[in-house]
Amino acid sequence: MLKTEFRVPDTMKAWVLGDPGQLRLTDKPVPRLEPAEVLVRVDAAAICATDLEVISHGPPALIDGELPFNKNFTPGHEYMGTIVDVGPTVDEFAVGERVAVEIHAGCGRCERCRQGMYTSCLNYGRNYGQYNKGHRANGFTTDGGFAQYAANHVNTLVRVPDGVSDELATLIVTAGTAMYGLDVLGGLVAGESLVVTGAGPIGLMVVAVAKALGASPVILTDIVDERLAVGTQVGADQVINASNEPAVDAVRRATGGRGANRVFECSGAPNAVDDAIKMVKRGGLVCLGAFSQQPALVDVGYIVTNNIYLYGIRGEGQSAVRRAASLLAQKKFDPSPLHTHTFAFDQLPTALRYAREKIDGAIKIVVKPQSMSRQAASEDVSLP
Ligand SMILES: [Zn+2]
Ligand SMILES: [Zn+2]
Repeated sequence: MLKTEFRVPDTMKAWVLGDPGQLRLTDKPVPRLEPAEVLVRVDAAAICATDLEVISHGPPALIDGELPFNKNFTPGHEYMGTIVDVGPTVDEFAVGERVAVEIHAGCGRCERCRQGMYTSCLNYGRNYGQYNKGHRANGFTTDGGFAQYAANHVNTLVRVPDGVSDELATLIVTAGTAMYGLDVLGGLVAGESLVVTGAGPIGLMVVAVAKALGASPVILTDIVDERLAVGTQVGADQVINASNEPAVDAVRRATGGRGANRVFECSGAPNAVDDAIKMVKRGGLVCLGAFSQQPALVDVGYIVTNNIYLYGIRGEGQSAVRRAASLLAQKKFDPSPLHTHTFAFDQLPTALRYAREKIDGAIKIVVKPQSMSRQAASEDVSLP
């Protein structure tokens, strides 16, 4: 086999977080590899709403047990790239392979990690000094993908199927989140009615993956017609604009008055949980996949009276990303309508603005760390 060689520089361009909302493009050393790690040349990194949260407010990022500001920390957690070097003991992957990178490596030694629930690692953020339990979550507790290179544990790597572009490969992790949520909803969703609330990237991906797994019908709710149209493109059987009519009534009508078997809440809207329990059939299952900003008022009596199961998920455990990549390799779903924009690496601030303000129909925006729109000097950028 022809061995591909890459020349790895000593330093790289990377964005680092200063004060809240401030990013700086700077030079950093290319990370050194520990055992079981590979060096990924980051070819594409997608922007997630959680990146906007981290950059503006901090959590859920945690660096040295504290808020991530002014710690030379590089955010970005949805990325893919090419392996350009492998650390000691690595024989699972080889130089030259294209990989998507899962966010959470966990610590590998706590009760939850041992159950495959590494996104709920009990040692979250404990990767420093005397607390070094080895926990890693790219762009949250360790440096992330808004950089030209990243060191990643082999446990977090998933091969990119042939024929999948760099841009679409960044969406494999999002598909993994959809898959993980469908796992907690019972996994075998073939023939089961499913409502997805919120047509953001995760909601749209849930529609696509649930259809690939045979859920039927899949009903999508949102308040933006353009987003609902993308939902139809990725397979939704029915879409409901909740600003035109109460979504609970519309779902009940569409499901013979009894509600759907499963509901996957992806909107984070204040009334979303209460709506979700009223959209689901008695004895049904609800998965909550959105970080909502405020506590919600929920009719707990209704949940108990109707034996409704409520689950919260964080990220994508139990190798859901690998399984999602397999579905993609089998061409069971097509995430391409979700990718709307691509920017050069030095245009990250513009890309973040597009994501925050949903400019020009933005859904998933990708930056390419190996490409610069101009000769990039170090610069400070404040985000609104
Ligand atoms: Zn994300
Ligand atoms: Zn753990």
